[in-house]
Amino acid sequence: MDLNVLVLPGDGIGAEVTGQAVRVLRHVCEKWGHRLKVSEGLLGGVAIHRTGSPFPEETARLAASTDATLMGAVGLPEFDNAPPEKRPEKGLLGIRKALGVYANLRPVRAYAALLDSSPLKNHLVEGTDMIIVRELTGGIYYGTPRGIFEEGGETRAVNTMTYTRSEIERVSRMAFHLARTRRKKVTSVDKSNVLENSQLWRRVVVEIAREFPDVALDHILVDNCAMQLILNPRRFDIVLTENMFGDILSDEGAVLAGSIGMLPSASIGDRRPSGAQVGLYEPVHGSAPDIAGQNKANPLGAIGSVAAMLSYSFGLREEAAAVEAAIERVLSSGNVTADLRPTGAPATTEQVGEAVVAAI
Ligand code: NAD
Repeated sequence: MDLNVLVLPGDGIGAEVTGQAVRVLRHVCEKWGHRLKVSEGLLGGVAIHRTGSPFPEETARLAASTDATLMGAVGLPEFDNAPPEKRPEKGLLGIRKALGVYANLRPVRAYAALLDSSPLKNHLVEGTDMIIVRELTGGIYYGTPRGIFEEGGETRAVNTMTYTRSEIERVSRMAFHLARTRRKKVTSVDKSNVLENSQLWRRVVVEIAREFPDVALDHILVDNCAMQLILNPRRFDIVLTENMFGDILSDEGAVLAGSIGMLPSASIGDRRPSGAQVGLYEPVHGSAPDIAGQNKANPLGAIGSVAAMLSYSFGLREEAAAVEAAIERVLSSGNVTADLRPTGAPATTEQVGEAVVAAI
C-alpha cells in the first residue's frame, strides 16, 4: 500500500516525539512491505518564526494533498501575550478546521503496567477502557459573536456556544459506528438541564441512536460525568460530547492512564472522494517547554497516534495492533521515561522509540 503522510513536528517536544513516531512508522512499512512517503511542514510557533503565520498556506496545501497528518504539539511561552492571530494555538484550530476533522477520538486505557502511576486506587482504575469522542470543529471555540467589548462604561466578554443539527448528527453517527466495534455502549454528555444547546444535542443523539438499535445509549450531565470518571471509570465505553466539555473531560481522563505523555488522539473527518479517510493524529499533550530539547519526553502518545493512523486512515488493523502490543511490552519491561516513574534509571525519548521498534 502507498502511505502518503505529512508530519508537522511543531514546537517544544513536538519534534522529539514525532521523530520517534516516524521511526516506528518507517519500521512498520518496511516490515509489512508498504511504500511510505513522508513530507514535513510548519505549524505553530516555529511557523510564526519562519513565515509570520501559525498556519502557513504551504502547510494547508500539503495537508490537503496527503492522506494523513501526524502532528507533534504547538505552543511556546514567548507567545503567551501575543494577539490571538499570532499565537501558535491558532495554527492548531486552523488545521483542524481546514481538514474538516470534526470528531476527536481519545482512547483512555489503564495499562496493567501503569496502574501504580495512576492517582486513583488500583481497584478503581483497573480495567478502564473507553474512547472519548469529542466534537472538534463547532461549539463555543468557534461560535460568533465573540470578543471583548466596551459598552456603556463597562467591559463585556462574549463567546457563543452554537451547534447545528447536522454537526451533531455526523459526530453522533461516528460514535455509534465506533461503539459497534467495541462494547456497544454510548454515553452522551451534555448540560441539558441548563443549556438549550445541550437540549438540541440530546434530542439529535436520541434520534441517531434509533439507527443503531444494537447499541445502548445513556445520558449524563457533564458535572456528574466529571465525578463518575473518577469514581467509576469502568462504566464508560464510548463517551460522546461537544467541544469544550470534551476538551476538559479528556484531560481528566488522561490522568487515569498515568501520564499525559501516554495518550494518543485521532481527529477524523469525512472520506475524500478517493475513499481516503481524512485524519489528523497527535498526542494529547502539549509542547512541554519545561523538558523540551532534553531527550526526556515520553514518545508513546505520538507512537500510539501512529497506530491510530494505521487503523483509521489506512485500514491496516494488523499493523496497528502490532504497534499497540509493542507499546504494552515496552511498558511492562519498565524501560520508560521519567514521567512514568520507572524503578531504575529513566529511558530517553530515543531509547523508548528504539524499544518499540525492537518489540515490533
Ligand atoms: P503540556 O502538556 O505541554 O505539559 C504539562 C506537563 O506534562 C508538563 O509538566 C510537561 O513536562 C508534562 N508532559 C507533557 N507531555 C509530556 C511527555 N510527552 N512526556 C513527559 N512529560 C510530558 O501542557 P502545558 O504546560 O499546559 O502547555 C505547554 C504549551 O503547550 C502551551 O503553550 C500550550 O498552549 C500548549 N499546548 C498545546 C497542545 C497541542 O498542541 N495539542 C495541547 C496542550 C497544550
